[in-house]
Amino acid sequence: MTGEAPHGDAPAPGTALLIGRDWRPGSGAATFETRDPANGRILADVATASDSDVDEAVRAAGAAMADPAWANLPKPELAKLLWRVADLVEANADELARLETLDNGQPLGVAREVTVAATAEHFRYFAGWATKIQGSAGPVANPDVFHYTRREPVGVCALILPWNFPMMIAAWKLAPALACGNSVVVKPAEQTPLTTIRLVELCLEAGFPPGVINLVTGGPEVGRALARHRGVHKVSFTGSTTVGREILRVSADDLKRTTLELGGKAPMIVARDADIDAAVRGAVHGALFNSGQVCAAYSRFYVDEARADEFVAKTAALAAGLRLGPGLSPGTDLGPLVTQEHLNRVDRSVRRGIAEGARLVTGGRRGGGDLSDGFFYEPTVFTDVRDDMALAREEIFGPVIPVLTYSDADELVARANDTDYGLAASVWTRDLSTAHRLAAAVRAGAVFVNMLHVPDASGPWGGFKSSGIGREMGPAAIDAYTELKGVFMNLDT
Ligand code: NAD
Repeated sequence: MTGEAPHGDAPAPGTALLIGRDWRPGSGAATFETRDPANGRILADVATASDSDVDEAVRAAGAAMADPAWANLPKPELAKLLWRVADLVEANADELARLETLDNGQPLGVAREVTVAATAEHFRYFAGWATKIQGSAGPVANPDVFHYTRREPVGVCALILPWNFPMMIAAWKLAPALACGNSVVVKPAEQTPLTTIRLVELCLEAGFPPGVINLVTGGPEVGRALARHRGVHKVSFTGSTTVGREILRVSADDLKRTTLELGGKAPMIVARDADIDAAVRGAVHGALFNSGQVCAAYSRFYVDEARADEFVAKTAALAAGLRLGPGLSPGTDLGPLVTQEHLNRVDRSVRRGIAEGARLVTGGRRGGGDLSDGFFYEPTVFTDVRDDMALAREEIFGPVIPVLTYSDADELVARANDTDYGLAASVWTRDLSTAHRLAAAVRAGAVFVNMLHVPDASGPWGGFKSSGIGREMGPAAIDAYTELKGVFMNLDT
């Protein structure tokens, strides 16, 4: 975390705030520690923004909206800036991947192939949009009125981020917000700030004018100060449903635009005719990818009772064979959970599952031996899970596979939909009509048929019900980061 500040002087970026053109420490003395979850060691002390820092960052973003260097930037130039960020992300791929693994714990291969690749991909996808955001002209009732629409930036966007895929989710928000001509104040999660800070440095290196991108670090208080700030016009938040509700309540005071990407409890349905080996691989990777710390993780499994024994035996064998280890160690399949606190939470969910009568098939323990200083949890498979158990109802966000069975296809949809969440779902079948019928009937923002939960920059992403409000990615993101204006011109003058 070294390097020269592209704007302003000391301190060097890496652990500081970016306000306007300056990297600077927080105005108070407060800092927070970010740790390596593979061994609990402190990686860095990062500045905690005070309320006045947040205020200054929002004001800097507001001033940038009026700065001709940004407001009048030709769209092809904006497209080039976004494209350049993607190039810089790729040029620094090894460093970024390593940093993400250190701070978040994900295996280096995941950091390289998913986090870094998707970050670059999002900037390229939205670079393409920058020159194509347009209104339309159409007839209105009065033939003497010419009417057209404009898509205009919303204004200052607060981008509040979670810890599970820190840099990639920063890109999900930054790229469309900037492509639409907004200015931003980014707040990474306090558990994993480092790659977001580095990504912001790369955005400045690409050439975004000062003030367009600001960065404040810290915990919930910093997020709260942003969400209630009257100079913020939109909050895009990814995180827990509980915090999402709070942000929506606070945003109501001045009717800020909000996009909320929240928790999930994705059902995976395995039909009688499914290719069971493919379904087992889908279950294990769909549930355990990034140690289960994925909003769309497959996290309750409805398996046709005729296939359940085979499914459970094969799933448990595959899960138990995965190698738990530090993300930087070659051959690691599953890294640690993000913090000790989160590890304790996952373990409590497992204990509760056992107490409620689910049968533990494999796992259910913290990583021992060489791993005991880190926040590791063994891949865990439960069977004999019932719909009313917490294992089937609550988001665990850890490496846990709860298996339920079904015999009645008509009841299945009602059971899969009997949840407050609705982010993602998965169906495994060889029968086309089963696939299409279930894809239509399950209430979720994304349904993956015979595949893993892989979002794509060009497809909408977001949740039904308590999994969120609004959509990011694809053309939907352009709507989410713009306001639509109608212009009426009297031609009869
Ligand atoms: P979290 O809600 O605890 O925190 C998220 C962010 O909000 C952090 O930056 C935090 O500092 C900030 N924050 C906390 N309280 C706040 C408040 N009152 N006001 C404003 N900001 C506040 O979530 P987390 O634990 O970091 O992330 C895990 C959750 O995120 C899971 O529920 C997961 O499902 C969800 N998630 C959803 C998606 C999606 O696309 N739907 C993607 C990734 C993660």
